[in-house]
Amino acid sequence: MAPTVRFDTHEVFNQSPAFENVDLFANDAPLQDAVRANGAEGEAAALSAFGRQWGAAEMFALGRQANENLPKLHAFDAAGNRRDTVEYHPAYHRLMAESIAAGLHASTWTAAGRHAAPPAEVARAARFYMAAQVETGHLCPVTMTRAALAALAAEPALAGKILPKVLTRSYDAVFRPWWEKSGNTLGMGMTEKQGGTDVRTNSTTATPSGDSYSITGHKWFLSAPMSDAFLVLAQAPGGLTCFLMPRFLPDGSVNGLRFQRLKDKLGDRANASSEVEFAEAFAWRVGAEGAGIRNIIQMVQLTRLDCAIASAGLMRMALTQAVQHCRHRSVFQKRLYRQPMMRAVLADMALDLEGAVALVMRLARALDGAAEDAREAAYARLMTPAAKYWICKQAPAFVYEAMECLGGNGYVEESMLPRLYRQAPVNAIWEGSGNVMCLDVLRALERDQDAADLFSSLSREAAVPSAAAMSFETASEANARILVSSLAVLASAAALKPSAPPAVADAFVRTRLARSRGALYGAAAIDEATTDMLLQRVLPEP
Ligand SMILES: Cc1cc2nc3c(=O)[nH]c(=O)nc-3n(C[C@H](O)[C@H](O)[C@H](O)COP(=O)(O)OP(=O)(O)OC[C@H]3O[C@@H](n4cnc5c(N)ncnc54)[C@H](O)[C@@H]3O)c2cc1C
Repeated sequence: MAPTVRFDTHEVFNQSPAFENVDLFANDAPLQDAVRANGAEGEAAALSAFGRQWGAAEMFALGRQANENLPKLHAFDAAGNRRDTVEYHPAYHRLMAESIAAGLHASTWTAAGRHAAPPAEVARAARFYMAAQVETGHLCPVTMTRAALAALAAEPALAGKILPKVLTRSYDAVFRPWWEKSGNTLGMGMTEKQGGTDVRTNSTTATPSGDSYSITGHKWFLSAPMSDAFLVLAQAPGGLTCFLMPRFLPDGSVNGLRFQRLKDKLGDRANASSEVEFAEAFAWRVGAEGAGIRNIIQMVQLTRLDCAIASAGLMRMALTQAVQHCRHRSVFQKRLYRQPMMRAVLADMALDLEGAVALVMRLARALDGAAEDAREAAYARLMTPAAKYWICKQAPAFVYEAMECLGGNGYVEESMLPRLYRQAPVNAIWEGSGNVMCLDVLRALERDQDAADLFSSLSREAAVPSAAAMSFETASEANARILVSSLAVLASAAALKPSAPPAVADAFVRTRLARSRGALYGAAAIDEATTDMLLQRVLPEP
């Protein structure tokens, strides 16, 4: 119960206490179940330690500070010399240091640049999910760093040089050459003014110069500009090619990256996203000339998974705040938590979150198993774009509904909901926007028989009534969103079966697959016993 505070004029009461100094793992039954169901139960104690660390009031304060104190571009010094550096608030650096110390940027890679043994992906996904609940902006460079290593595999000698610097658990924010630092982070530049999705339109050029290349052109979005090196796409003589562009030249001088400005973004404010020009910038080739898209695809599968996990994390924090508030707030002589309509809203949201968590953890397991098992590889191929599409698209409406559960308090900055709400759309937009994800699912179904087979076996796994089973035979671009939404819901149902209690998995199938429900939350007609179970699983009542 929140303490009653007496002012000269009134008492403050009937307000909810802050959700902080909590264990983000121990309080999260769906996450614990999904971790167990996907082979990472041995990590439970370590995940709980991580949950306590990230659930501390101090971490929430760092998240707030990092977003209130925007990164600042210093394009020039006082004498007019180019500086091209970005200054961050210390809170951002602390968050980076903690995420990197926990290995969120590299724990899924071995020293040789191979995938770490299972359940490395599941364990990292659980940590990433918890960190995203506290602050998501700083996770952009964390995500890019771990994903870029997948593309670097195409150039083993280069990877051999960079990898030891990236794999350290040390965050080194000082602006100096990568080889002098205790740890490196990596960014990426693909999007140009004339095209982001269609990177074949990239106009930036790469001219061979000895055993490196000279890159001239621009990128319209280049996030985390203080990264030590960037994966960049540019047109080489042999076609669109992937490069690694360090901030410093091998002689220790600053490379030709000129930051024009930082984007003034809706959200994601802790993270700097720059517009940059490359003035004969030095870069190493990654993979063959002309193989740029093929190489970069290795990376985007990982960033897309992280988008889905991060959006699920935003949903989790929003719903937790809503349940916490409703447990303490009374309206018309009754706790909001006991008001039947509010319970219907919260339980309906909880069911979507159950599906999202089960799906991202199942997907992480597929990545864990992909190297050894063709079916897991097919699952990862098909479900990465489907999960990114579905979960990232759900997040904004979900966070909005959670905001309303807090009434006016939810609309006010101190409540954290406005920040979650501003952050929510970005994961759907970057790294392949919604339609692009759906096109990717169609491509996987067309080209990969294992993926196509998986589609039918998911219906059996989820025990979906035959009337609700789907077919992709008639899939076309125009109806791809229908297909991919259904696929993601089906895969969530299948992922819930071995993970959540039967009542939860059954309620998911009943309300999301067997019949249609209302367009807005609270219209799914979930029975009272399941409602109670769902809400206890969001946040156990003390
Ligand atoms: C906060 C933020 C940070 C970012 N950081 C980076 C970064 O670090 N590096 C980087 O390279 N990029 C970055 N981006 C850019 C981002 O990846 C692109 O904005 C995104 O890929 C979309 O590209 P675009 O903006 O050119 O839109 P477009 O490609 O023009 O797409 C516009 C819309 O058209 C849709 N569309 C595209 N093709 C089709 C089709 N065939 N059929 C139907 N619909 C279609 C898309 O789904 C989208 O909704 C960032 C973006 C944001 C918002």
